[in-house]
Amino acid sequence: MEKIKMTTPLVEMDGDEMTRILWQMIKDELLLPFIDLKTEYYDLGLEHRNETDDKVTVESAEATKKYGVAVKCATITPNAARMTEYNLKEMWKSPNGTIRAILDGTVFRAPIVVKGIEPCVKNWEKPITLARHAYGDVYKNTEIKVAGPGKAELVFTAEDGTETRELIHEFKGAGVLQGMHNTDASISSFAKACFNYALDTKQDLWFATKDTISKKYDHTFKDIFSEIYEAEYKEKFEKAGIEYFYTLIDDAVARVMKAKGGFIWACKNYDGDVMSDMVSSAFGSLAMMTSVLVSPQGVYEYEAAHGTVQRHYYKHLAGEETSTNSVATIFAWTGALRKRGELDGINELVEFADKLEKATLSTIENGKMTKDLALITSLENVTVLNSEQFIKEIRKTYEAM
Ligand code: NAP
Ligand code: MG
Repeated sequence: MEKIKMTTPLVEMDGDEMTRILWQMIKDELLLPFIDLKTEYYDLGLEHRNETDDKVTVESAEATKKYGVAVKCATITPNAARMTEYNLKEMWKSPNGTIRAILDGTVFRAPIVVKGIEPCVKNWEKPITLARHAYGDVYKNTEIKVAGPGKAELVFTAEDGTETRELIHEFKGAGVLQGMHNTDASISSFAKACFNYALDTKQDLWFATKDTISKKYDHTFKDIFSEIYEAEYKEKFEKAGIEYFYTLIDDAVARVMKAKGGFIWACKNYDGDVMSDMVSSAFGSLAMMTSVLVSPQGVYEYEAAHGTVQRHYYKHLAGEETSTNSVATIFAWTGALRKRGELDGINELVEFADKLEKATLSTIENGKMTKDLALITSLENVTVLNSEQFIKEIRKTYEAM
């Protein structure tokens, strides 16, 4: 059989630890035998980031801007322990943070739904994709611990020196204070990324804040979304047969619990932090969660939502067998290949991605899975496979299809 040809390279960002091992296995077993894989390779493994003073991360993000689609392996975000373990020159920043800042993107996280791994919420039939605004609010706040009585005010000094003041509180005793901000530019980027992704995946978009209480701050989010929707997306949504709606965050939470799924839920930074952990754990497993960074210009970076699975890697290094789930990493590759195929008009590539995803899910549905899934599945008589056996089993299923 002839291999599928690609025209534009995919930006390939390699990573660390156990996911780096899986990365190579996936390429060898599931991709290279079937595709004339064309990638522009960037090694984001911590050693190479350290050697290049982290320039490689910036270069990989620039390449993503140039070509439009990237696939990323999980990477270590260094902490004190990693400084010694890898003898680092500096505590390099999170690669995901660096890439997100360059692409000005929004992260969409979606669970991979498979028979046998049932969500805790029994009416969730389809995945719920969570979009989190990743700038500002409480994550870029300024706080003061108030020691005793006094007056707290919010002051804005314009460039021409004019001051705007609002009383926050007359303290009669000790307390706390917090100042936070966001920008119209960042909120607009977030809104556009959400509208684009909804159109792209043909799913409804929900957005929720607390604008009834926060009449200026949260209301600005609501207004910006609404203005951009009316001006640029309303017609496109109607044509695609999908819906955008805004509601209060507490109403959204209540509706989500009763919904069937199959939509995108856009959240402000804090809501997104909390709700994404709730939604992902309710769907079953972090190892079954994909993540895609979408820029307002329509640039895509696909990855797994989990980390480098450090504990398994140390077992692997010690020569012990591992049973690490590669599904989310496989879906990062299929997501990127499908998008590349769509952009370049290579239908075989789109079909390949669809088929490899099906083969992955059928392998699990036929009772062959890694340990993490075996522990939570409702299927009986399952076979627990090691990391390599599972990938080889997917190849068998694929070839049989
Ligand atoms: P992690 O790699 O997500 O793993 C935490 C635990 O979750 C594992 O020990 C394992 O549990 C389970 N797990 C996660 N993915 C799994 C998979 N594919 N198959 C089976 N089990 C899986 O998180 P971490 O150990 O806290 O972080 C390790 C490194 O990853 C850190 O250096 C962190 O900076 C980095 N990280 C990177 C990203 C990213 O690049 N996007 C995201 C998060 C974390 P058991 O040990 O119980 O089997
Ligand atoms: Mg969190």
